[in-house]
Amino acid sequence: VNVLAEKKKELARLRDEVALKTIEIIKLIAERNRLAKRIGSVKRSEGLPLDDEKVEDELLREVLREGEKRGVERQLVVKIVSSLISEAKRVQEIDPGGSRGSPMSVLTKVVKLQREGKRVIRLDVGEPDFPPPAAVVEACHEALKGEKTHYTESRGIPELVEALRTYLKSKSHFDAKPEQLVVTVGGRFAVYAAIATAVKEGESAMIIEPAWPAYKEQIEFVGGKAISVQTSLEDGWGPSPEKIEERIRSNTKAIVLNYPSNPTGKIVKPSLFREILEVANEHNLTVISDEVYDSYSFAPCPSILEGGADSFILTSSFSKTWAMTGFRVGYAVCDRESAEKIVRLASLMYTSVPEFIQYGAIKALESEEEATRNREQMRERIAIAGRELDRIPGLEYYRPDGAMYVFPEAREESFDASTFAESLLNEDGVSVIPGVGFGRYPRCFRISLGSPKEVIVEGIRKIGEKIP
Ligand code: PMP
Repeated sequence: VNVLAEKKKELARLRDEVALKTIEIIKLIAERNRLAKRIGSVKRSEGLPLDDEKVEDELLREVLREGEKRGVERQLVVKIVSSLISEAKRVQEIDPGGSRGSPMSVLTKVVKLQREGKRVIRLDVGEPDFPPPAAVVEACHEALKGEKTHYTESRGIPELVEALRTYLKSKSHFDAKPEQLVVTVGGRFAVYAAIATAVKEGESAMIIEPAWPAYKEQIEFVGGKAISVQTSLEDGWGPSPEKIEERIRSNTKAIVLNYPSNPTGKIVKPSLFREILEVANEHNLTVISDEVYDSYSFAPCPSILEGGADSFILTSSFSKTWAMTGFRVGYAVCDRESAEKIVRLASLMYTSVPEFIQYGAIKALESEEEATRNREQMRERIAIAGRELDRIPGLEYYRPDGAMYVFPEAREESFDASTFAESLLNEDGVSVIPGVGFGRYPRCFRISLGSPKEVIVEGIRKIGEKIP
């Protein structure tokens, strides 16, 4: 009994000590914040940049060394340093993301106008207007009638996984094991799952801007930091491997590539793609290659499945190739271990893609004719958009190598694409997405080629009349 009483006393004493240490940590954080605030005002008064990634990285390295010496787990150190830095930024009133316009806000406004009965020339939509293959619709019907209306394996039904294997083998000569494939709710979830798999709280991932906004938002959603590498129209939207390497930090885990690109239509040359992969390999980065637009390629488009990356997750979709956006079906291809994590995430979040949709998706993979037809129409639309844009002296643009967008830039230095897009919608009934949605591109806007030719021509002519 005495021994037990002694132990209880010791436990109580230890708990008190832990509480004291925890309070000490909070006091230290308060002190740290006060210092950060002073740093903020010095930087502001001297006009120095508020955000300094190099300083942050040096701090992380130093603290990691200390943590290692004292046996504190690396992941915990990364998390804590990241939280401290965010907190310091909050007290210094630094907006971590910088404010940006979102494509979603344009979409909401456009839909409202349309509901009010206004005609809108939709050059904003990120989806092709083509119908899905008839065989897909038919297969979904049959599946529904045949009561394929249940939960399935979270990875996807074996028949679809097998059909994907055959498809990838014939298209990319890639021999995927079934364990390397996961069917997902759209390419969007595949991208999210890839990011959640490769990037943990406090770590960072690189994106090449201009970029599809979800990359940055999803990286931040999992508690990571998005490091953006800027590209410019002047450089034909090509990223420089040197610049990429220079911006890699000790906590950088992944790089997101997207060719053909949304919003620029850029496809990098295979040699540049390989150089980027070499940099990624050297720094142990997982390459997340989002190839949703690969069927709309009008120049040789490198795929991550051709090899060259030590660690990769490919994400793709049925949405664009077969115009199946509303079916919500996509997939990921990667190593077994990452695939396991993605399957687990899918099973936690939504169990499976609807069974009858998966039966439809099998038919899509066989619908080569429709994929070709869609591609040829997009090729024609790119040419037509180019002809129309060439007649607008105030705009410069890169002629897309692929995808379904053009991302022109106004020549006038003071041009503000957000204001322009707003008045273009209100006064001329044409909707485009301002460039700030894709990064720091205030003079650019995205024109989608997801609408018929006549609509594209009419829309671009109205744009031309308004450009200074
Ligand atoms: N990646 C990119 C670059 C996209 O533009 C889109 C769609 N806008 C997606 C992924 C996801 O599309 P979905 O979820 O319809 O497959």
